Amino acid sequence: MLSVVIPCFNEAETLVRLHDRITAEVAAAGETCELIYVDDGSIDDTLAILRKLAANDERVRYVAFSRNFGKEAAMYAGLRHTTGDAVIIMDADLQHPPELISQLVAMWHNGIDQVVARRNRAGDPATRTFLSKTFYRLVNRWIEVRLVDGAGDFRLISRPVVDAILTMPEYNRFSKAMFAWVGFDVAYIEYQNVSRQGGATSWTFPKLVNYAMDGLLSFNNRPLRLAIYLGLFMSGLAVAYMLWIIGHSMVSGVDSPGYTTLLTAIVGLGGLNMIVVGVIGEYVGRIYYEVKRRPHFLLKEAHLPRTTSEPGSPEAQGVQGWAGADPVPAPRRRTETTDLTA
Ligand code: UDP
Ligand code: MG
Repeated sequence: MLSVVIPCFNEAETLVRLHDRITAEVAAAGETCELIYVDDGSIDDTLAILRKLAANDERVRYVAFSRNFGKEAAMYAGLRHTTGDAVIIMDADLQHPPELISQLVAMWHNGIDQVVARRNRAGDPATRTFLSKTFYRLVNRWIEVRLVDGAGDFRLISRPVVDAILTMPEYNRFSKAMFAWVGFDVAYIEYQNVSRQGGATSWTFPKLVNYAMDGLLSFNNRPLRLAIYLGLFMSGLAVAYMLWIIGHSMVSGVDSPGYTTLLTAIVGLGGLNMIVVGVIGEYVGRIYYEVKRRPHFLLKEAHLPRTTSEPGSPEAQGVQGWAGADPVPAPRRRTETTDLTA
């Protein structure tokens, strides 16, 4: 059985269409499935539509967050509630063509553990394409796993991969790199980029820059290493300049002008210091979030009818989304929709 995980944030416009297409494609691929929708604190009718879908289709399971926790948290929550032998992660905005499902499944049957649907950048604004390409070049030089341009979260992952991902309890989740870090046999399928079918993207430019920064910082400590090298380099320059200035004063006496040099050095070094402190700060901030051990998400509602193949349910660990947390008594809401805020 397949599990399809769909994070939804204000996707009321496309949900029904998406549902119909996914179920049709799964049937065409000759598989059975469950669909796990994660409502990431939508403020439109997403949750109402999910309730309706669930009422009409017993394959639908959903969880709804108490507020917007972000796509990473939504995917994590979705994965935790999957029971299938393989999981397909898809966006709700129909940018991930459901037609690819049969190809994904076919490759999985050939023994591939991660089948990644990789989009080309047709129709993307040129600047964004350029920035993305630069990002990948930078990231791949720096971090220890290899990220592939255009390979996002749209993929099929087999049960071992899902379980591996779920053993990673970190709070700062950068899925692209986590999938790459996990390994297993990976294959790529390329598809033509599709623009959003209704609704609006929640990615603004600053959000993308922050995401890129997260990517660079969350998976390695090389920026810290770089700070050391930068420090060594600057110290080298300083020593060279010192020797030169001492030599110069000995030969031609002290000539006090030097205001420009002094000011440039102070301002330049000041800036450099701030940058390095900023980098360290980023890491400290991450540590801060990790040590707090907050849950990744909170549920306000869940509809998780028991499926026959379900092993130890993640629900036994309580509603909070931190894999390593002490078990919290599970709320009694296994077989039907219950409003947890009640
Ligand atoms: N999404 C989410 N939480 C968020 C933002 C987005 O669950 O805070 C979902 C969204 O509903 C969609 C997917 O993540 O299914 C990708 O979002 P979007 O289409 O905005 O991103 P893009 O396709 O532009 O990368
Ligand atoms: Mg999208």
